[in-house]
Amino acid sequence: MSARLRIAVQRGGRLGTKSLELVESAGFRVMRGANDLLYRVENAPIDLLCVRDDDIPTFVEDGVADFGIVGRNVLEERGVGGLTEVMPLGFGRCDMKIAVPAGRAYSGAESLRGLRIATTYPRTLSRFLERAGVEAEIVSMRGAVEVAPRLKLAQAICDLVSTGATLEANGLVAVDTVMRSEAVLIRGARIADAELAHVAESIVQRFRGVAASQGAKYVMMNAPKASLPEISRILPGAGAPTVTPLAGNDDAVAVHAVCQESVFWETLEALRAAGASAILVLPIEKMM
Ligand code: ATP
Ligand code: ZN
Repeated sequence: MSARLRIAVQRGGRLGTKSLELVESAGFRVMRGANDLLYRVENAPIDLLCVRDDDIPTFVEDGVADFGIVGRNVLEERGVGGLTEVMPLGFGRCDMKIAVPAGRAYSGAESLRGLRIATTYPRTLSRFLERAGVEAEIVSMRGAVEVAPRLKLAQAICDLVSTGATLEANGLVAVDTVMRSEAVLIRGARIADAELAHVAESIVQRFRGVAASQGAKYVMMNAPKASLPEISRILPGAGAPTVTPLAGNDDAVAVHAVCQESVFWETLEALRAAGASAILVLPIEKMM
């Protein structure tokens, strides 16, 4: 059997589906077979190793997998070791926050001095406290951290938050940010099989392309020449636009640009106000 490259992804959980979507958007066809530990990619020598997110860094560091997709928070908690963060992937965004019962005063990390703080991320929290020069007691839990204050186990918690609904349901308020996280692509020190180096390269290039084209739009319009500076300013996250002449009209031009950031209705209204007409916003499928 010829060599295959392995990407470790979370089985289920908050990142599993998105990780598979990323791999498929990169043009790799994933066969979901009976074996739910290892999925084969049918059009490239790649397998997906589906495991618990906490195990992903270890698998990549030990060379059991060549790449991994995991929350930056998991990487941070474990210590980066021999791993490299290749790129952020733009999904699984969340913040690690300090939260306290509603009504409790908080004026910076100083307010945590001497308190008991419950968390599933003791090492990350401990570094946060150290940086702030604050001594507090860390209560390490495996989960359900948000109930700790009600059970009088702790006076504060440190946990991942995306919408804040869980905090609110437990009478807690987020008061500080320990770190920002999202899913990242990690790799170990070396690709196990030299033959697979070009496959590894293509994974990185294609993932970059998918991440870059997320939210990016191709925008076209006609505009008076005089409004070009203003229009370039309005286009969100665009480099220098392409400007081409319009047949039979010396005062107007066609403007084309790739916008890296979201194009909202407000953007279109501003372009209209600057004199643009026939504005088209097109999705970008692939970008390299
Ligand atoms: P596993 O069974 O694989 O160990 P888990 O319960 O540890 O799963 P999940 O809850 O699925 O993990 O979260 C996986 C990752 O999703 C987190 O490490 C984090 O990077 C990201 N994430 C995004 N939003 C949130 C959130 N609101 N709460 C927790 N994690 C979040
Ligand atoms: Zn986990």
